[in-house]
Parts: sequence; C-alpha cells; structure tokens
Amino acid sequence: MPRLSKVLLEAVTLMRRGAGRFLLLAVWAFVALVGKGRADIHPEWTQALAPFHIAGNLYYVGSADLASYLIVTPSGNILINSSLTSSPELIRASIEKLGFRFSDTRILLIGHAHYDHCAGSAEILRQTGAKYMVMDADVPVVESGGKVDFHYGSELDQRYSPAKVDRILHDGDEVLLGGAVLTAHKTAGHTRGTTTWTMDVTEAGKVLHVVIVGSPNVNSGYRLTGQHPSYPGIAADFAHGFAVLRSLPCDIFLGSHGAYFEMLAKLARLKAEGPGVFVDPVGYKSYIAEREATFNRELKRQTGGAIQEAH
Ligand SMILES: [Zn+2]
Repeated sequence: MPRLSKVLLEAVTLMRRGAGRFLLLAVWAFVALVGKGRADIHPEWTQALAPFHIAGNLYYVGSADLASYLIVTPSGNILINSSLTSSPELIRASIEKLGFRFSDTRILLIGHAHYDHCAGSAEILRQTGAKYMVMDADVPVVESGGKVDFHYGSELDQRYSPAKVDRILHDGDEVLLGGAVLTAHKTAGHTRGTTTWTMDVTEAGKVLHVVIVGSPNVNSGYRLTGQHPSYPGIAADFAHGFAVLRSLPCDIFLGSHGAYFEMLAKLARLKAEGPGVFVDPVGYKSYIAEREATFNRELKRQTGGAIQEAH
C-alpha cells in the first residue's frame, strides 16, 4: 500500500515532466486505494460467511475473519463490531438470515478503535438508531474517524466516518439489555481503549463463560519503550491487559478476528461435533500465553535485550 506522501511525490514528479495524464492516473489510483482500504490484501475481511449460532443468545454475524457478534434479548439486540466501512450490508444480511431484525439493534459495541472493527459504526447507527458505547480512551479516536489514532492517524486509508459516542465506558462497566449482561474489560495497548468483552450464556442448561478478546497484538511499528513510545504507558497497558486476560474465566473463546480463535477450523468441525467446538478453555489459555510471550520478546528486543520483563 503506497503511502500518501509517496503517491503525492510521484504525482509531483510526473507533473514536473508535464505528464498531466499520468497525474490523473496517479490521483485515480490513490482514490481507488483509499476507497478500498486494505481489504485487497485481506480478502477474508470482506468475504461473506454464513451466520451461525455460537451458544445461548450469542450469534456470529461477521465475515470470514472480521468478527461481529449479535446478542439477542427480548428488549432488542446488542451488536459487537461494525467492521469496515463496507461491512454494514454484510452484517445486516447475516442478522436477517438468522431471522432477526437489523432495526432491533439497540446497542453497538466494539473490540477496539481500528478501522477494521469500527469503520462501519456511523452507518449502522444511522440505520438502526442504536446507542454507541465505547471505552473511554478509544472515544476520541472513533469520534474523529481515526484521525487522532496514536499510530495510524496520518494514514488516510485507515480513516472512516466519525461516529458520536452515546455512552463512555470505563474499565469494569456493564452493558445491560433485556437480561443480557456484558462486562467491558479494558485491555489496552493495541489501542488506548481496547476492550475485551465477557458475558455468560446458557446452553443446554449449562452456564458458559464467554470471552471476546479485543486484541493483544503489538502492531508493526509500535514503540513500546524509549524516549518516544507510541503513547506514554503503552508497555504497562499491554502488561496489565495480559494480567486481565489471564484472570478471566473462559469456556467460549472468541475475538475481534476469527483468526484469534481459529474460527474457520472450528467451523469445519461444527457440523460433525456440534456447537461445543467453540468451548475451548485450553485454546484460550495457550493463545494468551503465546501472545504474552510474543509481547515480552518484542519489549526485550526494543529495550536492546535488557531485562525488563513485564508483570
Ligand atoms: Zn487492531
């Protein structure tokens, strides 16, 4: 993905050569790339997937990788993750395919304020009139359409329509609707307000603990330490986030991307084995342990190998 500066530089060079038609081509290419975002390098982000029941009142309504979840209650529904600008149509179709009404969406939540999980929010709020509830430190990001993101703020292809937040969430806050109780755990680092959602569902008379991981990932280019960290306290936030993730009881392991919890592999087993395939406490623990080890390795690399283990 060429960055804006590079494209503009090329355009200016072409202009100096008097190649007006090439300038037009460059501008067209830039607009096309911005419009597409990065879906072109992640075809699974926009690939439709038949929606499915996970457990209790919890359903999957996302794409082949960008996860969206629907929690159905007698007082309307809760939707987690609006995904890309282009995703609302896919999410709506998935909800309707399950026999529910898109217009019954009362509350919209996100796992974290990156464009692949929240760019569709403005459109979903417009169509459903749902209330948008976002973790405190992610609020300025979604309300600026990604402009004030600490890392991606200047990347135009990661911007989206700003969406007004109706309720600012804080760590440990509960979202209540029609008997459903979702708890917002602040597991920051990936974004300042990354949120891991937990809830209990009842399936065949059994209560199961659900964990929807916001993101434990250190993205390429994040500075965890030194004079100019990506944001002050980022490493401490990640370390705290891992402590929280380790502490959460988990039966059903889910996340912002299907890839976190090997969704497609589990789905392939669903028909033969039933919905129990999503019950994966061992997979959850090993995923968190592996991600934490990766974070610690990266922190150590950035601190030049000095011992600075996270706690
Ligand atoms: Zn992200």
